[in-house]
Amino acid sequence: MWSLFQALAVPKCRITPRNSEEVALTLAKIVANSCRFAVLGGGTSPFAGVSHADGGITIDLELLNSVNLIETPNGNAVEVGGGTTWAELYWFLDPLNLSAAGTRNSLTGVVGSILGGGISFFSQRHGWSCDNVISFEAVLANSTIVQASEHTNPDLFWALKGGGNNFGIVTGAIFETFHQPPSWYTFQRWDMRALESVLHRLTQVAHHMPSEVQMLATTLGWSVHLQEFAISERLVATSPPYLPQTLPVRNAGIGAEATRLEEYIYVKATLEMAQKMDRMNADGFFNYFGSTTVKSGADINMKIASIFFDEVEGIKNAPGIQIYIVYNPITVPAMQQMSKRGGNALGLRPQDGPLTIININLHWSEEGDTERMRLFMRRMISRIESTAKKDGVHHPYIFLNHCFEEQLPLESYGWENIARLHAVRDSVDPRRVFHTLQPGHHKLGRVGP
Ligand SMILES: Cc1cc2nc3c(=O)[nH]c(=O)nc-3n(C[C@H](O)[C@H](O)[C@H](O)COP(=O)(O)OP(=O)(O)OC[C@H]3O[C@@H](n4cnc5c(N)ncnc54)[C@H](O)[C@@H]3O)c2cc1C
Repeated sequence: MWSLFQALAVPKCRITPRNSEEVALTLAKIVANSCRFAVLGGGTSPFAGVSHADGGITIDLELLNSVNLIETPNGNAVEVGGGTTWAELYWFLDPLNLSAAGTRNSLTGVVGSILGGGISFFSQRHGWSCDNVISFEAVLANSTIVQASEHTNPDLFWALKGGGNNFGIVTGAIFETFHQPPSWYTFQRWDMRALESVLHRLTQVAHHMPSEVQMLATTLGWSVHLQEFAISERLVATSPPYLPQTLPVRNAGIGAEATRLEEYIYVKATLEMAQKMDRMNADGFFNYFGSTTVKSGADINMKIASIFFDEVEGIKNAPGIQIYIVYNPITVPAMQQMSKRGGNALGLRPQDGPLTIININLHWSEEGDTERMRLFMRRMISRIESTAKKDGVHHPYIFLNHCFEEQLPLESYGWENIARLHAVRDSVDPRRVFHTLQPGHHKLGRVGP
């Protein structure tokens, strides 16, 4: 369990099924006895009860972690069990010079991240994690085991791509792979004199991502160690030998007055890149995530930074504090990939892009600070949203994988998609087992916090 909110939960019972049939049997007994339960994948969701049932039953999918390479008419793919983590998948694919559009840390569950969409190192070319699923196997509320793909149960297939844990327990997935030798991975960190130029450059890259760039993410954080703010940038570029084309992107537009505090350039396989990100996010703390979306623009990026400076003042003295925001550009090419195989449920349209998803990350070590952290997160989200609305650059999308427990991500997908998600849920789970007996995580039709 990555977050203490989850680790402190004490389930009455933990079950580790070995295959889909055992998952189905477990669920049948749970439903027959109206027990409260949670499904545990990678265990990196931060909120209490999301995947670890306090006083209930945790169905831990850790034994469903098989990974097999298979051939499809369109090339290689991998078949994974429903409890596989991205670390296990990258570890398998890296030596084959293959990869998959998985998350940028290694510990998350493949399925857990797909159920919320899944931003990847490789989204610019391949779309989000959910867009790369070829098919799912799932256990439905009545314990039947079904397949879902573009051609078989297409509505369920669509709903599982972003619709959260409202439809079934996913016991397996077939996922696209692509040729991916180790990539250039660069990290740079500057003092605050670079703020404006780094955020300006971020906007330019969001509008015109150079072809050799696979991912760019900019982080603004409070450094407890230095007692000052710093801005940093992670860039993943195409594989060697193309570094000469990449360097201009790395350095362009940063004012000479800014001091670069740190810099790394590596050639890294996907697992190593993800493990670098893991180190930014140690486990064993209380955590809140928050997320909001704006249309990409330098002005709003600067205003968000000002809100952050302002709000951090009230919490920066908390023991064990780590606080940063990540600006994730979502480019038009990335959103164009979202129509693959019947599309996903997220409601993101290329004509609205490019967008920037602002992820807010917060951890602290003393439970007594929880209330002020909650207020911080509420204020950050509401101030960013109202500023963006005032400037006409707000976008309603809320990224399920990184949102605050009080946000309503599924309700942000647009009315048509919400109606379709409800229709799918009514057909696969008319008794609302996954809503009532599995209360953790974001539920369809929840009215408010
Ligand atoms: C350090 C860190 C970095 C991250 N980086 C990224 C990133 O780069 N991109 C991104 O998109 N997200 C990222 N995330 C967010 C992550 O994708 C989500 O928190 C995701 O929900 C975690 O899935 P999990 O299986 O690890 O977690 P869990 O807590 O096990 O599960 C999350 C939810 O999914 C459900 N679930 C999991 N597996 C199944 C299954 N097989 N069937 C049915 N329900 C299931 C659980 O019941 C729970 O409701 C990051 C998270 C952390 C902590």
